[in-house]
Amino acid sequence: MKNLIIAIDGTAGSGKSTTARLVARRLQYLHIDTGAMYRAVALAVLQNNINPDDKDAVEKLVERLKLRLRQNNGIEVLLNDEHVTDLIRRSDVTSIVSTISSYEGVRAKMVEEQRAMGKNGSVVLEGRDIGTVVFPDADIKLFFIADVEERARRRCRELLDKGERVDFETILSDIKSRDYFDSTRAISPLKKAHDAITIDTSNISIDEQVEKVLSIVAKRQNVKSSVKE
Ligand code: C5P
Repeated sequence: MKNLIIAIDGTAGSGKSTTARLVARRLQYLHIDTGAMYRAVALAVLQNNINPDDKDAVEKLVERLKLRLRQNNGIEVLLNDEHVTDLIRRSDVTSIVSTISSYEGVRAKMVEEQRAMGKNGSVVLEGRDIGTVVFPDADIKLFFIADVEERARRRCRELLDKGERVDFETILSDIKSRDYFDSTRAISPLKKAHDAITIDTSNISIDEQVEKVLSIVAKRQNVKSSVKE
């Protein structure tokens, strides 16, 4: 039994991306970072000098974008064949991504692509609405949470590692406002699916997060194979 759909949702900096990547690697599954897809759309908005508040223009743009996630020792993001894996992490992208991902036309296109990529299983998808909207019948649904100050510290460390200058208070307030915007938007807000398992990562290491997820997967696989027998 190897073709599970694993859905991981949660707030920014909760550890879901790193854990999803490592779990996918251990299981030899595909990893789909849906946040990277919304970030690529946000980057395209900036590159095309479109006002992020102009919903119609953003929705028109998304229709003609060609977006691809390629697995190559981590995910590579290609936007109209341009390699944008690093560019989508820029702070100007981060500051508009929640706005453009609240638009119906943007979400419809992203969700359609995510379903197409994940439908055959053997996949770990992570984002905000995977267990609630994209794959409400996923085999495993997890919801990652962590203390907001700890999440801000993690983001600071990540950026420092990349050689960027950081200001803790700015990052903290960016995370808080993204959480607020993502959880209160009208379409597909960030929320825990009723049948998702919550994992609080405030005080556990990435290795522990990965082991926790793998043990949930192992249990689920046993249940699936005993049902089959
Ligand atoms: O996961 P990451 O922090 O890179 O996601 C960037 C943004 O993309 C989120 O703050 C959210 O606004 C949006 N997003 C979303 N739905 C998803 C994944 C990400 O709206 N499934």
